[in-house]
Amino acid sequence: MEMASVTPRTGLLDNYIGGGWTPATGAEALDVTNPATGETLARVPLSSAADLDAAVRAARDALPAWRAVSVIERARRLFTLRERLDALREELARAVTTEMGKTIGDARAEVARMIEMVECASAIPTTMQGRIVEDVSRNVDAETVRQPVGVCAAIVPFNFPAMVPFWFLPFAIACGNSFILKPSEQVPLTQQIAFEVLDSLELPPGVVNLVNGGREVVEGILEHPGIDAVSFVGSAPVARIIYEGAAKAGKRVQALGGAKNHMVVMPDAVVEKTVAGIVGSAFGAAGQRCMAGSVVVTVGEAHERLMPPLREVTEALRVGDGIEETTDVGPLVSTAACDRVRGWIERGVEEGATLAIDGRTSDADSRGAYIGPTILDGVKPEMDVAREEIFGPVLSIISVDTLDEAIQVVSQSRFGNGTSIFTESGASVRRFRHDVQCGMIGVNIGVAAPVAFFPFSGWQDSFLGDLHAHGGDAVDFYTRKKTVTSRWFSSGQGSGAYFVEN
Ligand code: NAD
Repeated sequence: MEMASVTPRTGLLDNYIGGGWTPATGAEALDVTNPATGETLARVPLSSAADLDAAVRAARDALPAWRAVSVIERARRLFTLRERLDALREELARAVTTEMGKTIGDARAEVARMIEMVECASAIPTTMQGRIVEDVSRNVDAETVRQPVGVCAAIVPFNFPAMVPFWFLPFAIACGNSFILKPSEQVPLTQQIAFEVLDSLELPPGVVNLVNGGREVVEGILEHPGIDAVSFVGSAPVARIIYEGAAKAGKRVQALGGAKNHMVVMPDAVVEKTVAGIVGSAFGAAGQRCMAGSVVVTVGEAHERLMPPLREVTEALRVGDGIEETTDVGPLVSTAACDRVRGWIERGVEEGATLAIDGRTSDADSRGAYIGPTILDGVKPEMDVAREEIFGPVLSIISVDTLDEAIQVVSQSRFGNGTSIFTESGASVRRFRHDVQCGMIGVNIGVAAPVAFFPFSGWQDSFLGDLHAHGGDAVDFYTRKKTVTSRWFSSGQGSGAYFVEN
């Protein structure tokens, strides 16, 4: 079946449960808004505990049938999924921009990453292999096989409506699990398209399920005895709630939280490329990325070299509706997010920072949730604007004298998601990479988000759990190891006769 296009959903959205689109029974619904224009796009239901329960029952019922599908056939379903998503790249990207606000270029890059997750997961006949060692004792062999965990759920944030759900879904089903997705209630539309595609794969009913909603669904996921594993991506306080709640209920859990990412600029950095890297990292997706570089730490004379071109390039960025190809910075996800970010800019000024560029004066469409790129200079590491996640287009600049001090600033953050260094010195890079307390590091790259076949791996308050998202860790998370120790009395002890004498 070819799927060249899908009709965008409007009105009250359905859930997808047990192989079909199903109305939610929850009584409440929220507007889904285009943050560029304030236009209402659809209504998202806040599903009830009963809706979640129906999804869990469908997912449990699907397990025997899905496990009986051979691993190569599961991989083939992912090949088909990949082809059908690929055919809908532009529709998916437009859905992302329309409901979340990021520029269409950013959205296309996100969809490319989403598809790469499917490509990576389709290596499952190789990546799911176990291990065997013969003769662990006389005539005894030991082997470890990997088996599915069961029903796996994921709770995801608003900032990557296409990609983040696919950090989990393709890997979970590749390993033979069934899956329940709870998208962000702020951006439920992109996954309506993804599930339209999943529906076309004719998987056993209940292998993939979509339950829209908010807190009630999340609490249900934590408590429901029919769910075996929970993945979460979102803010740090909610990550802790999920981690503790799921662990208490005896579920496998991985919880990826918020971030505050530093970009260290050494005096020998290539200025033009460094500025491009910083601007893309700080202001791409209007700063609403967990890997956004939100603090620049200049070392020595780097400050003097960096600031004039950084200011010039930032001031030239065009703020507007992300669907226009010429826009560099789109709106924030909502007007509530705008108010929060405005509050942070005021806080920075009160704390003594200098407003080098004030994005609050942006003259973009007043109906939209706009704040232009903002730079706070003269920031000190102890200020709240340097320590807390702002999640908007606000860049703080901290100046230090040495690389040691810069490493200390980065490592003292309670978060530890991503950091970058800009320099031409191998020795500085080596030192930084070795000492810095952070999970993902970029060298002359602003947003060093690992590709699908490497794990996405924050540290400290940015990550609670053991196994990270995607890459090899995904197969470890979505499988349980079973170790078999065996002997066969009738096989006898090998005589070694096959070592033929020459
Ligand atoms: P959020 O924590 O508000 O929401 C995430 C999910 O949790 C949503 O599905 C939401 O419905 C649910 N939720 C929210 N509050 C809840 C509560 N009190 N109890 C139960 N469930 C609740 O996050 P967000 O605003 O959607 O996303 C932005 C955050 O996500 C930022 O902090 C960002 O750094 C983080 N993020 C982290 C990563 C990472 O890989 N570490 C990636 C993307 C985003």
